[in-house]
Amino acid sequence: MGNSKGECRFCNKIATQICSLCWEDYCDKCIEAHECGEDYVMPIVNSPRTGVCGYFGPLEE
Ligand SMILES: [Zn+2]
Ligand SMILES: [Zn+2]
Repeated sequence: MGNSKGECRFCNKIATQICSLCWEDYCDKCIEAHECGEDYVMPIVNSPRTGVCGYFGPLEE
């Protein structure tokens, strides 16, 4: 179930929003034109960047 490819279904850019009614992914722009309305829109939270390279130690140069 669901179409969770992480891409906007219209323009194939990185999806940042998902409609909780259709379970379709959209980018910021396309979600604005989505017919279900903002009440069903949720941000996609599975950021692949979480935890990547979070440590920057003191530079001793
Ligand atoms: Zn929808
Ligand atoms: Zn889009």
